[in-house]
Amino acid sequence: MNDVIVAISTALGKGAISIVRLSGSGAIEIVNKCFKGKDLTKVESHTINYGFIIDEDKLIDQVLVSVMKAPKTYTREDVVEINCHGGIAATNKILEVMVLNGARLAEPGEFTKRAFLNGRIDLVEAEAVMDLVNSKTEKARIQSINQLDGRLTGVIKKFRQELLELLANVEVNIDYPEYEDIEVVTIDNIKNRVGDMKKSLTEIIKESENRKIIKEGINVAIVGRPNVGKSSILNRLLGENKAIVTDIAGTTRDIVEGSITLNGIQLNFIDTAGIRNTSDVVEKFGVEKSIEQINKADLVILVLNNNEELKEDDKELIKKLKSKKYITVINKKDLDNKLNINDLSLDNVIYTDTISMDGIESLKNKIIELFNLEEIDNNDIDIFTNTRQITLAKDCIPILNDVEKGIEDNIPVDMVSIDIKRIWTKLGEILGENYSDELIDQLFSQFCLGK
Ligand code: GDP
Repeated sequence: MNDVIVAISTALGKGAISIVRLSGSGAIEIVNKCFKGKDLTKVESHTINYGFIIDEDKLIDQVLVSVMKAPKTYTREDVVEINCHGGIAATNKILEVMVLNGARLAEPGEFTKRAFLNGRIDLVEAEAVMDLVNSKTEKARIQSINQLDGRLTGVIKKFRQELLELLANVEVNIDYPEYEDIEVVTIDNIKNRVGDMKKSLTEIIKESENRKIIKEGINVAIVGRPNVGKSSILNRLLGENKAIVTDIAGTTRDIVEGSITLNGIQLNFIDTAGIRNTSDVVEKFGVEKSIEQINKADLVILVLNNNEELKEDDKELIKKLKSKKYITVINKKDLDNKLNINDLSLDNVIYTDTISMDGIESLKNKIIELFNLEEIDNNDIDIFTNTRQITLAKDCIPILNDVEKGIEDNIPVDMVSIDIKRIWTKLGEILGENYSDELIDQLFSQFCLGK
C-alpha cells in the first residue's frame, strides 16, 4: 500500500494555482529528482520550498513545494504538495513528470483511504471529508465539519463505552452468581441503561432520517385513478402548468418531473408519467404502475374524486398504502359529494378544489407537518449522515430489544452478554472496524480524485 501516489488535488482548469499532491514513502525523493532548488530530502518537515519543477533539464514550472514528513500528515505518510501555476497544461505536465519519476496515479479518495487505513481518521470522519467536499449548502457544511471534528465519533464511542460497562456488570453476574444481592441490583441497572441507550439511539436515528432529507429531498408520488385530478394538483403545487390537464381519462402523457422547495426542503415529484397512460389508446388504469411509484416514494399523495363513488381501483390503491406515509386528497370538493369514506380509515384527509385552489395550502401544510419541516435542523444534536451509518445503527435496535426482553425473561446472563457484544461490534462497524476490503473500496471510490 505504501507506494507513492500522486494526483491533482485542485479542480483542473484556469486558476491562480493548482496543487499536485503525493503521498507515500519515497514521495520526497521522487519530487526531489525533478526539483531545482534546495535538496528536499534534507529540508525540515512542514516547510515550504521555492524552486522549479524540471523534466531532465527543461523547466516545467515555478513552484512552492510543501514537504511534510510522516507521521504528522493527512495520510500519516510522507506527503509533498506542489503549488504550481494554475491551468491545465502546467498542472498536467507536473503530474506527468511525477509519474515518469516513479509515482502512481492515485485512485479517487485514495489519500483519505490511506488516512483511514493508517488510523488517522475513522470511517465516519472519512465520510465527513467527502460530505464536506460535496456540501452545497451552509447547513450541510456545518454538519460535515462537526462530524469531521469527531463529534459523531465521540457519540458512538460513548455508546460503546457504556456497553463495555454493561458487559462488565453482566460478567460479574456470570462469575459471581452466588451474590444474589448484586445480581438483583445489576439486572435492574442493566435494564434501565439498555432502555436509556435504546431511547437515545432511536432519537438519533429518527433525527438522522429527518435530516437526510436536507441532503436528498423528499420523493413524492401522486397516485390515483385517471381523471381524479392528479395533474391539476401537481400543477397547483408546482405553481405552473407543466402537466397537460384534460378531461378525457388517461390522456395526460407528458413526463413531468417537477420539484418545489418547501421550508428549504426539496420535494421531488417522481415518475409522474407513470401514473398516466402512455399509449395512444386509452389504457385501463394499472394499479401495478402505481405500486412501483408508491415503492419509490417517501410520501404518497393519494387522490380520490369527491364527485364519484369509491371504485375497486381506489380500494386496491388504499390497500397498498398501509405501511406508507401518505396524504389522502379528496379532490373536486366543489362538485357534489358522492364519495363515502366513512368505512375507511384513511390517513391525513384533505379536501381540495384545484380550480379555486382551495385546500392546496392545507396540503402543503400537511406535508410540512408530516416531515416536521418546521423543526428540522433547529436542534443541535449529532446525527448519522448517510444510509450506511443509519442502517448499522438501526440494526442495533432489535438487538437492544432482545437484551431488554432477555433481562425481563430472566434468560441466562451470558446470552445477554453475547447480544451486548453484538451491539458493540455493530457500532464499531460504523467507525470502520471489521471493515471488508470491498466496502472500503466501494466507499472511497465515491470520493473525488486527489482527495
Ligand atoms: P388526472 O388524470 O388524475 O391527472 O386528472 P386531471 O388533473 O387531468 O383532471 C381531470 C379533469 O378534472 C380535468 O378536466 C380537470 O379540469 C378536472 N378537475 C381537476 N381538479 C378539479 C376540481 O378540483 N374541481 C373540478 N370541478 N374539476 C377538476
